[in-house]
Amino acid sequence: MTEGHLPILTDDLFRTIFEKSPGSILVTADKPRFTIQAVSDSYLEITSSKRDEIVGRGFFEVFPDDLDFNEETKARIVFTKVIETGQKITVPTYRYDIFNNQLKQYEAHYWSCLNTPIFDNAGTVAYILNTVIDISEEVRAKNAAIENEHRLRIAAEAAAFGTWELELKTQRFVYAPRIAEIFGHAADAQPSLTDLRAQIHADDMQNVVLKALDVALSTGKYLYEVRISWPDGSLHWIRTQGILMYEDKEPRSILGTILDITESKRDEIRKNDFIAMASHELKTPLTSLKGYLHIISKKTEYLKDSFLNNALSRADYQVSRMARLIHGFLDLSGIEPGKLKLQLEEFDINRLTEETISETLLIHPGRAVRLNGSASVLVKADRDKIGRVISNFLSNAIKYSPANTEILVIAAQDEGYVRISVADQGIGVKAKEKEKIFQRFYRGDNEKTGQVSGFGIGLYLSSEIIQSHNGSIGVESVENKGSTFYFTLPLVS
Ligand code: ADP
Repeated sequence: MTEGHLPILTDDLFRTIFEKSPGSILVTADKPRFTIQAVSDSYLEITSSKRDEIVGRGFFEVFPDDLDFNEETKARIVFTKVIETGQKITVPTYRYDIFNNQLKQYEAHYWSCLNTPIFDNAGTVAYILNTVIDISEEVRAKNAAIENEHRLRIAAEAAAFGTWELELKTQRFVYAPRIAEIFGHAADAQPSLTDLRAQIHADDMQNVVLKALDVALSTGKYLYEVRISWPDGSLHWIRTQGILMYEDKEPRSILGTILDITESKRDEIRKNDFIAMASHELKTPLTSLKGYLHIISKKTEYLKDSFLNNALSRADYQVSRMARLIHGFLDLSGIEPGKLKLQLEEFDINRLTEETISETLLIHPGRAVRLNGSASVLVKADRDKIGRVISNFLSNAIKYSPANTEILVIAAQDEGYVRISVADQGIGVKAKEKEKIFQRFYRGDNEKTGQVSGFGIGLYLSSEIIQSHNGSIGVESVENKGSTFYFTLPLVS
């Protein structure tokens, strides 16, 4: 555009430009009246007023200065200051409610405004230009965020847990004062991450915390329970739970909570001690019962009384069953998280599988169990415990499938590991229960499960055993069609 095309900047043109500008009003510096000289369209719209009704009137006649809560930011005081100092004054936020014509009521509005002095030739302030921006949305969003944070804080305090965030790259650790208390310090003690980590039991740090971090990096979920020692020497338990936060698909930090679970852990330990004691007490009479049954059956063999023989072998079967349950309880009570005492040896897992199938068939002679895979496969593991896992899979397959269906056991070798699976054609496992059934005392939510006796510890123990061997355990299943329970173990390299 050349200069010739530009319109001449007449007063009228200036006025038009002013009237089109966002949220502006020009008042004379004739305090205390502050006569309105000009006003922009958007200012009129914001304030639901009409130009000919307000121009020429005093600013405070039209907009009474009474709703702003803060003395300092009241328009009258600010206008006066602009005149006295000749300086621009910004009021970052103030409240001035506006009448909503549709709803017929006042609505809270928040504004940010700039008051600029305009000087005459003598250098005194002649006008004040007041420019406002409606920031109600921003203020409301900010207030909502503050309120949310406040609510979260109250919830956290009520639940007695402490919140924290760990930046992975920098290891910057920020946490609520409650965490210091959970670790036995004063709330304002500000122990460092290194200080707190040093309080975690050395075994748990190695076996639990570092593993949990690996799991978090692959699953996004961080969870562990460990023992900590307080500065006064006492032992406590904590549960840490968190989620991984990502930035550009890269893990950036972990956000989580810590809860003191000492009391419930103590209860659990007491319960486990009780189970251990009760099981021990039960084991002794059972062992002698088994002995007597054995003697009786030897002594009555010559009678060839089929009823007696049958009754004795059933009694023997029930005693063995009870002994197995008690063994299970004993194992259970000895387990600490991430800690199971293993006696490692090198052995052929296929042999073990064959033996376990034979033992199972002794107890359930009517069932058809087929084994696929016979070559020898060496693993280094706790033979007795792995045998218990296979035996548990087999007895579950028998318990949860009709007597006339076959059970298929497959031993397969893949890169670096062996996989043993036990497939049945039984009631199957619901998709939502596939993880839960490996938890302690969890029994399937199925009326058919209810008809079968059990305590919900077999799979929990199996999973603890396999995990402590760095293997994996799981189930594939279709409800009412059957289940395949499997585990893997690393091969001897
Ligand atoms: P229990 O058999 O004593 O209940 P487990 O820990 O061995 O305890 O199994 C937990 C649950 O998993 C069972 O209650 C059952 O619901 C489910 N389950 C285990 N094995 C099977 C299977 N082969 N088929 C169907 N459901 C099974």
